[in-house]
Amino acid sequence: MNGKRRKFSPAHEVFKKLGNLGLLGLTKPEAYGGAGLDYSYGVAMAEALGHIDCGGVPMAIGVQTDMCTPALARFGSDELKREFLAPAIAGDSVGCIGVSEPGAGSDVASIKSHARKDGGDYVISGQKMWITNSLQADWMCMLVNTGEGPVHKNKSLVMVPMDCKGIEKARKIRKIGMNSSDTGLIYFDDVRVPQRYLIGTEGAGFTYQMMQFQEERLWCAASCIQSLSNCIAWTVEWAQERKLLVPPWPTSSGCSSSWPK
Ligand SMILES: Cc1cc2nc3c(=O)[nH]c(=O)nc-3n(C[C@H](O)[C@H](O)[C@H](O)COP(=O)(O)OP(=O)(O)OC[C@H]3O[C@@H](n4cnc5c(N)ncnc54)[C@H](O)[C@@H]3O)c2cc1C
Repeated sequence: MNGKRRKFSPAHEVFKKLGNLGLLGLTKPEAYGGAGLDYSYGVAMAEALGHIDCGGVPMAIGVQTDMCTPALARFGSDELKREFLAPAIAGDSVGCIGVSEPGAGSDVASIKSHARKDGGDYVISGQKMWITNSLQADWMCMLVNTGEGPVHKNKSLVMVPMDCKGIEKARKIRKIGMNSSDTGLIYFDDVRVPQRYLIGTEGAGFTYQMMQFQEERLWCAASCIQSLSNCIAWTVEWAQERKLLVPPWPTSSGCSSSWPK
């Protein structure tokens, strides 16, 4: 990185190696380079990734395999899958999932980013926050308001290449953990993408995202099992090795368990 200290794990490098091993598309259709296996194989991989002692690395991988690609694989057009899913499975591109915003975390329905139509394009404005992989990502699967209707029916998932004019990768957000992960704040100012980058049906984005979350959250749980087991093992080891400081002064009972007044 031009001699500068690397600020996050190198997703392109890691993903290419995983892609070559066929590990980024276990549950994805074979037509796009995946292995076409059922979800239990994805869970097995998530559990195995828990052996990595640096949480940001498995999380980056999980975003690619189980967070930003499930809706694309299930509802995207063939053209969209060839353009975005196949390279993601091969490890040739890095994706991210853009749902959260400064004012919308758990309450996904209240996102404010919006897209208006102009000719054959969507013109997108807004911001996304806490987005894993976003500073390195080649594209974002973005949840955005595409209409004025009821909040659960006015949203769409749109594929947004991250080199579009009007995108500002504002900064890596400082966190208390997952420091190797590039969790970004991203601004969108009149960003133009073709309407054919819409995943599935316009207005169905909230539903697609809730379905996508099911794979995401289960992946997160599976990937934590090994790291939590490690925490227990390390705690036991520490408790067994630790030398207890015994006060050197005698007490009235002959024990040395109380501190002097
Ligand atoms: C390391 C990291 C990586 C992330 N990566 C991504 C990413 O790649 N893409 C993305 O879109 N987002 C990402 N996020 C954002 C994440 O999805 C949100 O943090 C999450 O949705 C919670 O939103 P919030 O932080 O705004 O908390 P809030 O929604 O403000 O919630 C704060 C607390 O209030 C509770 N709460 C909220 N609403 C209710 C309610 N109605 N009833 C009871 N309790 C409630 C919550 O359980 C929580 O304890 C990431 C976050 C982190 C920390």
